[in-house]
Amino acid sequence: MVTSVYDRVTAVRQQIDEAAVASGRSPGDVTLLAVSKTQPLEKIVKVVKTGLIYHLGENRVQELMEKVPNWPSDLSVHWHLIGQLQRNKARKALELAHCIQSVDSLRLAETLQRICEETDRQVSVLLEVNTSGEASKSGVAPQEAEGLIEAILTSCRTLSLQGLMTIGPLTEDQVQIGQAFESLRALSERLRSSTGLELPVLSMGMSDDYCLAIKEGSTMVRIGTAIFGAR
Ligand SMILES: *Cc1c(COP(=O)(O)O)cnc(C)c1O
Repeated sequence: MVTSVYDRVTAVRQQIDEAAVASGRSPGDVTLLAVSKTQPLEKIVKVVKTGLIYHLGENRVQELMEKVPNWPSDLSVHWHLIGQLQRNKARKALELAHCIQSVDSLRLAETLQRICEETDRQVSVLLEVNTSGEASKSGVAPQEAEGLIEAILTSCRTLSLQGLMTIGPLTEDQVQIGQAFESLRALSERLRSSTGLELPVLSMGMSDDYCLAIKEGSTMVRIGTAIFGAR
């Protein structure tokens, strides 16, 4: 049986709502971001036309360059860069994305700050944290996050720091995955009290682990496969 895009998005949204309610939260607390990397524009348009998606995530600047200028102007969405950003692509990223979720160094933050100042632009950013400790993953080490935030607050005042992002560990072990998410939430609470920032966004949870992430406090899940099918 072929499942329609509408059915898949609705099913994911329903799972999100149920997971939120099960942990005593409101469904409206959890934003669904559809990860559209490698997907053709027509398919992404279909997903957004369900009326259930207002945020799209891409992990390469190159794909933002191909998609954003061709996006239908009557369909309003926010584009998020969720993959690693090289400083030489920062200017392009700032032209195309509303939010950069992968800030993990002061050098990158300062580059973004400088371009924002030059171009009179504002951007939301998340700090990517490597909660799993896996060498293959980008993100600042949890114990360095506070120092980095303080440095960003001091020298990058145009950047609107909205919260934290992480990618769960690559394992089937639910306990280990839950611990990584729990550690990001705990870190965000510590940073909130040490910096006085609101840090409302906790971007964690993908197709295989979003219900667990919501249980641990996620406010934004990034879902590709469960919406678009296998890449
Ligand atoms: C690809 C990707 C996702 C989505 O992964 P799925 O397992 O397809 O849901 C989420 N976050 C990041 C950073 C990604 O690169």
